[in-house]
Order: sequence, then C-alpha cells, then structure tokens
Amino acid sequence: MNVHSAEIVISAVSPAQYPDTQLPEIALAGRSNVGKSSFINTLINRKNLARTSSKPGKTQTLNFYLIENALHFVDVPGYGYAKVSKTEREKWGKMIETYLASREQLRAVVSLVDLRHKPSEEDIQMYQFLKYYDIPVIVVATKADKIPRGKWNKHESIVKKALDFDNNDDFILFSSETKMGKEEAWAAIEQRLFA
Ligand code: GDP
Repeated sequence: MNVHSAEIVISAVSPAQYPDTQLPEIALAGRSNVGKSSFINTLINRKNLARTSSKPGKTQTLNFYLIENALHFVDVPGYGYAKVSKTEREKWGKMIETYLASREQLRAVVSLVDLRHKPSEEDIQMYQFLKYYDIPVIVVATKADKIPRGKWNKHESIVKKALDFDNNDDFILFSSETKMGKEEAWAAIEQRLFA
C-alpha cells in the first residue's frame, strides 16, 4: 500500500472510546525502544507521525491511526519499563487484554521484536497470548541493519525458537534505516486485511 493519508483519530483507554467504525484494524505491539514508532512511520511514509521513544510516565493509551480511510493502525503502548509501578502495569495489561481479546475488527497483530536479542519474557508472553486468542501475528524483527547479513538466519532461528513460532504466522526482517522489509510487511498486512 502506498500511503498518502494517515492521521491520528483518537487515544483511547476504554472500549467506549474506540472509533465507532467497521474498518479493519491492525494492532502493533512491542517493548519500548524496539522500533515500533519507526516501523509505523516507515510504513506510512512519515518522519514522525507516531512519536518515537515514548517515555515512561506518559499516559498509556491505545492510539488509533486512520490510514488511507481504509484501515486503522492501533499503536499499543510499549511494555517493558521496569520503572512503571505494579498498579500501572496491571492497568496497562487490562487495557491491552480487553482490546486484543474483544475487538471484532482486529485482523492481525504486528508483534515487534529486536532481531539482535533473544525475545524477552514479555515478548514471549505477548506472542503466546495472541496465539491463545487465535489472533494472526506478523512478527517483525527490527534493527536488522545492526546484524551482519550472514547472521540473519541464526538470529531468526533464535527468535522463532524462543517464541515457539507458529509457521502459519508471518516473520519479517525489518530495518527502518534501510527500509528493508517494508514491502513485505505491507503485503502481510494486506493479506490479513482482505483475507
Ligand atoms: P519505540 O519506543 O518502539 O517506538 O522505538 P523507536 O521507533 O522510538 O526507536 C527506538 C530507537 O531505536 C531510536 O533511537 C531509533 O532511531 C532506533 N531504531 C528504530 N528502528 C531502527 C532500525 O531499524 N535500525 C536502527 N539502526 N535503529 C533503529
């Protein structure tokens, strides 16, 4: 998809605030700093519509972006900030769970992991949660430019093994620096949108 129009529609915390439309949705999840904002901006050809490096303490909301009047990207706040209190983490968990487990028009979740590292406990939990709810996942392994090409396969295997990756899902090597994986990511998203 060649995106010309993308705008934030609403930052929501509860279902009553979700946009009242039937447009298909693709949610994006990953730990803070994984490169989620950079991924969104790359896909929609923007420098900074999705804010990069959101800091802890900021309100944790689901951000709905309307893309080409055809779909929503739903930016799920990043997990993995140790500093966040237990109460805040629980609130965050409930908000995400409510959205992911009950949103009719959710077609797939883009789950971002850093290709350089073994997935964290939270990465694994998120993936297993999505599998439990039978939600198709597009795993996007970010920052591929920071790994030599000859080691991509090895890193991919490590990530897949840790996640107990389901081969019906998509796995895409991505770099927002080189734009590697951009077309493949759009193809996977479009396939889920129109499945
Ligand atoms: P977010 O917190 O998940 O939204 O992560 P950001 O998109 O803000 O990225 C976090 C940091 O990683 C920033 O300094 C980005 O410039 C950097 N970054 C993100 N994606 C890539 C990538 O594909 N390659 C490289 N080399 N750096 C990246």
